[in-house]
Amino acid sequence: MLCPYCTASETKVTDKRDSGSEARRRRECLKCGKRFTTYERVELDLSVIKKDGRRQKFSRDKLMEGIVNNLEKRPISSEKIDRLVDTIEARVYRTAKDKDISSSKVGDIVMAELKKVDKVAYIRFAAVYRDFADIDDFKKEIGKLK
Ligand SMILES: [Zn+2]
Repeated sequence: MLCPYCTASETKVTDKRDSGSEARRRRECLKCGKRFTTYERVELDLSVIKKDGRRQKFSRDKLMEGIVNNLEKRPISSEKIDRLVDTIEARVYRTAKDKDISSSKVGDIVMAELKKVDKVAYIRFAAVYRDFADIDDFKKEIGKLK
């Protein structure tokens, strides 16, 4: 890892933090003394299989994007969102078989974890994801939360 300020290669780690599939390292350049943070992330080759059979590489970034959209205007800190995405990602990796997971399984995991964090966001996601056939289904789902 080169120092982004002076490109020296000698740095020391001053602090480390691990969360889920991500590790953060606070580093200090031994030459110029500036500090910066590096991230290390697990990336497995995992395919999500959609309902129509198409495969797509599982992407943490896409998952994060979806979650952030879903939580729009909800009172949830970005740290909490990070943790939520970590948890979902870890469960997706654990659940996948032979590097494959169906999009509906991913959806189930997202729903289960969203439910623990924010009920409104959960309902929002469920409405889209489950494609509620009619308003009664939707009411039933809301009823279960009470
Ligand atoms: Zn430097």
